[in-house]
Amino acid sequence: MADQQQRDFEQRTLGIIGGMSWESTESYYRLINEGIKHQLGGLHSADLMIHSVDFATINELQEQGQWDELGAIMASSAQRLQAAGVQGIMIASNTMHKLFDNVAAVTSLPLIHIADATIEAIKKQNLTTVALLGTQFTMTQDFYKQRLIDAGLQVLIPEQDARVEVHRIIKNELCVGEFKDSSREYYRQVIKDLAAQGAEGVILGCTEIGLLIKETDSPISVFDTTAIHAATAVEFLLNQ
Ligand code: GLU
Repeated sequence: MADQQQRDFEQRTLGIIGGMSWESTESYYRLINEGIKHQLGGLHSADLMIHSVDFATINELQEQGQWDELGAIMASSAQRLQAAGVQGIMIASNTMHKLFDNVAAVTSLPLIHIADATIEAIKKQNLTTVALLGTQFTMTQDFYKQRLIDAGLQVLIPEQDARVEVHRIIKNELCVGEFKDSSREYYRQVIKDLAAQGAEGVILGCTEIGLLIKETDSPISVFDTTAIHAATAVEFLLNQ
């Protein structure tokens, strides 16, 4: 009987490639543990292994466009997690999903894609047109946007000047733990403008934006990729 109970609560082990930035990895850690606690109760907590990288290096390589090098770093991180015994892996950054295929190339473990989890959440609400906020890479490049389009969604992004400012706030403020009212106000205005253009929901497509913007800051549905990815992680851990 005791054995049976133990088996009922057995979790899989999930590996997280984090530290991009650690501000949002902390959110992942908290949200996944809260999810497990909610599901299993008592003293239960999540069975996780986090490999947290040095974000200064990652950011510099992004700015220099050294994506091959970044791909190698992500692949190596996945291999280290696999060697440590995880049963699935997630990359805790939207931007770094540009290197998703580099990770997939070195492991046959299940990988939980942040955009796929988000698409599922959007589809549950039957929305077709969504705004996408994130880094310049995420807002403008195909690795992310095209995945949404391929899933049948229409994607609106801010105009050029606003994209620059949205990106600047992420890198210069949110990733170093600064949360300014003026930046919140800026994001609120950007979301309002995109809603006026027809967006029915907004994807917080950067894992730090949810630290600044909440449902109440938006006139349309909010899809916080950190919360959505974390919820998918909980399902994976519990094999649901
Ligand atoms: N965490 C952010 C994201 O979700 C940006 C940091 C990064 O460049 O990885 O895209």
